[in-house]
Amino acid sequence: MNAVAETWQAPAPGAVSVGAAPTGSHKLLLGLIGAGIQQSLTPAMQEEEARAQGLRLYYQLIDLDVTRSDAGALPTLLTAARTMGFAGLNITFPCKQAVIPLLDELSDEARAMGAVNTVVFRGGRLIGHNTDGSGWAWGFHRALPDADLACVVLLGAGGAGSAIAHAVLRMGAQRLRIVDSDATRAQHLADALNALYGRRAEGATDIAAALQGATGLIHATPTGMTKLPGLPLPAHLLQPSLWVSEVVYFPLETELLAAARARGCRVVDGGTMAVGQAVGAFEHFTGLAADPARMERHFRRLIADRA
Ligand code: NAD
Repeated sequence: MNAVAETWQAPAPGAVSVGAAPTGSHKLLLGLIGAGIQQSLTPAMQEEEARAQGLRLYYQLIDLDVTRSDAGALPTLLTAARTMGFAGLNITFPCKQAVIPLLDELSDEARAMGAVNTVVFRGGRLIGHNTDGSGWAWGFHRALPDADLACVVLLGAGGAGSAIAHAVLRMGAQRLRIVDSDATRAQHLADALNALYGRRAEGATDIAAALQGATGLIHATPTGMTKLPGLPLPAHLLQPSLWVSEVVYFPLETELLAAARARGCRVVDGGTMAVGQAVGAFEHFTGLAADPARMERHFRRLIADRA
């Protein structure tokens, strides 16, 4: 596999249209492969942005729970998608790592993270990207452009936390303390990051100790989701000098964000990452610039409707 530059060049006009394209208009077939994805907002987000840009885009959920299969079905699904003229696929749990050996190329970011959330079919080749980390970075920078990255605490070292860890180090964080209820997972992530970016990350077991002297907190555990309400850490640990970045986006206003705001912290909600990764995926799929503000308005409407 060859690495490709993360800044993707737009294909020549017409190169992104697939399948029969009556009257010469673009018709894009996309899909999401993952388990338990029936509530995903991705189809609506991608289809709406395409519609606003005059593209015809059809987005199909390929839910491994519905088909009673697992990541072992990936070779068959990728072949089928290619045969049917798909322009690309989003990939989510539990396939983000398993898809990698099946691809022809990886972006630098996907290679560093060892995870792919976007596959583009181009010229008969499958190219893997990861827009999770860059999506977080985009939303975070937009919300808090002057955030102090001297000492950042990451709570949660799973899929979302790992992607963000790479992104925040790429943004220039000087120290990253990683806390997870699975201490081994936190340490493994720190070791992998240090091998790539120099010794700036460390695994930590005590969130109170980790937050001493910290400038920011990134929360990347599922605590606070509608189905898992609560605070992921004691509220008194939230000093006003901390910025707090949340990954949970359903609900958008989590108990953590409310507690952090009440204590004077500057906060970023989980919607910014959700929009950022979708903007990146749209651009990889279509070669066109997305309108982030429009995609964000649409995303927040979808969340409000669901609530
Ligand atoms: P995951 O299961 O891969 O990782 C969660 C990690 O948190 C695990 O390592 C687990 O051990 C740890 N953990 C759980 N509870 C903990 C606690 N109380 N203290 C310390 N560590 C704890 O899950 P994920 O895919 O990383 O998703 C995490 C959350 O992020 C979910 O709510 C998901 O919906 C959300 N998410 C948001 C976006 C977005 O775009 N905003 C993207 C992906 C995931």
